[in-house]
Order: sequence, then structure tokens, then C-alpha cells
Amino acid sequence: MRYGIFSDVHGSLEALQAVMKAYKKEAIDKYLCAGDIVGYGADPIECIKLVRESEPVIVAGNHDWAAAGKMGLEYFNPYAKEAVKWTQKQLGREELKYLKDLKLLRQEQNLTLVHGTLYEPGDFHYVYDIYSAGRTIELCSAQICIIGHSHIPFIITSKGPELKFIDKLQTKIDSDIKYIINAGSVGQPRDNDPRACFCVYDTESQIFQIKRIEYDIKKAQAKILKAGLPEILATRLAEGR
Ligand code: ZN
Repeated sequence: MRYGIFSDVHGSLEALQAVMKAYKKEAIDKYLCAGDIVGYGADPIECIKLVRESEPVIVAGNHDWAAAGKMGLEYFNPYAKEAVKWTQKQLGREELKYLKDLKLLRQEQNLTLVHGTLYEPGDFHYVYDIYSAGRTIELCSAQICIIGHSHIPFIITSKGPELKFIDKLQTKIDSDIKYIINAGSVGQPRDNDPRACFCVYDTESQIFQIKRIEYDIKKAQAKILKAGLPEILATRLAEGR
């Protein structure tokens, strides 16, 4: 089985199209999405449509639930808040229902999927270091926990109490080790690499790869500005932060 695993599309159609095109060459059997289809970018409807067409195992992100009116906006910074409000106005009843019905946790073979953390998943905490990763790995009954939310891809391994970052973005999954893997962000990477991020996991070879692909950033930026969204949401795309 070959899994295509991605997260944090954030309404960027150009980035999502580039990733889906790259996935065509990967012979993917099944897709997994760790949340935040919408928010920040100018194409929430088209992104929901394209994600749904891939029939993914998918969980809710904070932007998905906020856009659907399922959580308050006090969690968000001013730019994100503006983006959520703008997104809400674009979506129709059908899209809002789809986002509202997304669950916080999903299971698929040896994978658990959550946007933030396994403790209080509805509070959307961040995993940003080995300490914050520890609690989630402890709670994970599956071998691999896939997360998103910070837009920074990483692989953390856990052998007993010892947790550490792998310095490469590719690894062979070892059956004696547990993993927490951040799938990065399709539409708004924040690891200083502006290219769209996506993952491929082959259960036969057990190779897990975090990959990057160029996309038309200028086009995505122009649409954000034309939509009247905050300028910073456009400029940050070129910097990947
Ligand atoms: Zn996000």
C-alpha cells in the first residue's frame, strides 16, 4: 500500500494542484489529510473539492472547524481571524457541513491522524519539540502518529522514553520504534522552504518520505491580494515562513 499523506492546504489551489500532480507519479493507493484545508488562501471551495475527490482519511484542523462555526475565533491571531471570516463568507452550506463533520482523530492501519496533539485534540495544541511530542507519543496506540498544524515537517522517533528528531526527511520505519511525523504544509510552509510539502509512505518497503514540489507562488499571492486578504498572507508564501 502506498499512502499519500498531506496537511495544511490552507486554500492554496496552486500548491494543492502541484502536489496532486506529483502524487500522480507516485502510484498512491490511499490519501490521508491531517487537516486545515481552508484558511489563509484564496481558493477554499476549490481546495475542498479537490481534497474530497481524493477520498482521503481526514481529520479536522482548527481553521476547518472555525470556518464551519464549530469553534470560536479567540484562538486566532488577527490575520488568521480575518482569513477565517473571509473564508466563512465564501463557503456554501455543503462545504460548511463537510468541514463541520470532520472528526478530530482517525485511524488507518498503523497510523493515527490528528491535527494538533492526542491530548485535548480539540484544543489544537502544537507539537514543536521532543517534550511536547512526548505526551502525544505516549497516548498513541498506533505505531505512527501523523500531525500537522505547525507547518514545519519533521520526523521524531521514540524508542522507550528516548525521543529524538531525525535529521533527514526520509526514514525506514522500524517496527521496534514509534514515530510522530509532521506532514508539513501544502499551502503555507513555515520551515523557510517555500515549496509545497507532501509525504509518501510505502508500507511494503516501509520507506516514509517527506517531499517538496515547486508551485506557482506568484499566482497564489495575486489571488490573495485580489481577494482583499491581509498582504502578509501573500508575502510570507515566497519566504516559506
Ligand atoms: Zn494550519
